[in-house]
Amino acid sequence: MSDSTNILDVRLYQKGKLLETGISIANGRIVKLGRESALPAAAETIRARGLLALPGLVDVHVHLRDLGLSYKEDYLSGTSAAAAGGFTTLIDMPNTNPVTDSLDRLREKMDLAKGKILVNVGFNLVPKSLDTIAETKDLAMGYKINLVKQWSDLPTDDTTLRALIERVASIGKITVFHAEEGSTVDELESRLKGSSSLKSYYKAHPPEAEDEAVARVLGCTHERRARIHFCHVSSTGSLRLIRKAKRQGRHVTCEVTPHHILLSEESSSRLGGISIMDPPLRRRQITGKLFAALKGRAADIVASDHAPHSLDEKTRPSWWNIPPGIPGLETTLPLLLTEVAKGTISLRRLVEALAERPSKIFNLNCGALDVGAVADVVLVDMKRRFKIDSSKFLSKAKYSPFDGRSVRGRVVKTFVRGRLVYDEGRIVGEPGTGSIVTPTTED
Ligand SMILES: [Zn+2]
Repeated sequence: MSDSTNILDVRLYQKGKLLETGISIANGRIVKLGRESALPAAAETIRARGLLALPGLVDVHVHLRDLGLSYKEDYLSGTSAAAAGGFTTLIDMPNTNPVTDSLDRLREKMDLAKGKILVNVGFNLVPKSLDTIAETKDLAMGYKINLVKQWSDLPTDDTTLRALIERVASIGKITVFHAEEGSTVDELESRLKGSSSLKSYYKAHPPEAEDEAVARVLGCTHERRARIHFCHVSSTGSLRLIRKAKRQGRHVTCEVTPHHILLSEESSSRLGGISIMDPPLRRRQITGKLFAALKGRAADIVASDHAPHSLDEKTRPSWWNIPPGIPGLETTLPLLLTEVAKGTISLRRLVEALAERPSKIFNLNCGALDVGAVADVVLVDMKRRFKIDSSKFLSKAKYSPFDGRSVRGRVVKTFVRGRLVYDEGRIVGEPGTGSIVTPTTED
């Protein structure tokens, strides 16, 4: 009874159904679901008065920064933002300073993160050589390759990519791609960089550069075991190629981001430098198709691509010098719950795309509210309407292209392994409450 909580009177979302029930948690796990009278006694009781209980969300594309980039975000501020946004498990990206390209670098990150994180965090790695893959197999969640900007010493020619994908597959892991063809973008940039118009930035990152990269990756290997995941898909051509690979029985998955489905190139002149992303926002006719792909499961999951920068960096005078990306952990869930309230996507599909599927794709043992499962739970008030206010973000990046947007669905409480870490706008958990997730973690 020492480490136990009963959360009473929730609308619980489980296996595609909404139940009115209560959750009993002991020692970090869900031990029973049921009405108050059916639950075992607990040290703590929370009356949720009809709040929606969701499995803690999973974001497989997060840049927590820290180390040499801690002015942009650190493990505590980034995981605080996650808890406030309903995310309890994150996968961090390796383009840090220094780059996470070896076993030592990965261990360094884990040691530093351990005492700071509020939610669970696993780490992707960008190998500096092919041998790094086997060396890091017990600690790295996945292997990330950026085709538009090389992050490590490992080249990204076809022969290397083939060997990389096959080696990653041989240890049962996943290769994760930022698919945009670097040579195409470089050539366009060198031609267009003289222009100061925002349109030129968009022209330098056309959807075709993404299609080209997706086609190249998929053509590199026909190894059936290979699991390949494409980040932030933003073109109809790449969706088509991914759909075809899936039909061939290949283990290919992809994500879309809230900004690629809810914003468009047309809104970028109003938004200015904040709207610089990579891949960039697309034209409205494409963004509608990306949203449809999410609904229809051609796009498997949603990831925030939380990529914080300082406001100074995002407001540099030249588009070409603005680092791409925005903070997304605190806006993803309310933006998408607003779509649920509008009836444009179902709650069932949303929970699948934000919890169940990312957990399965990355072999994480979370994403469902079942008896026996780890008690990562988020309580949401679907009745609460509010405006996105980036000045209140817990992320260090206090700006958003969604600022001022009216949304519905406020995260009220976030539990990580049964511990309350976020409560009504405040962080109440101790740094270090989250766990480092590794492929060998039992849960
Ligand atoms: Zn990213």
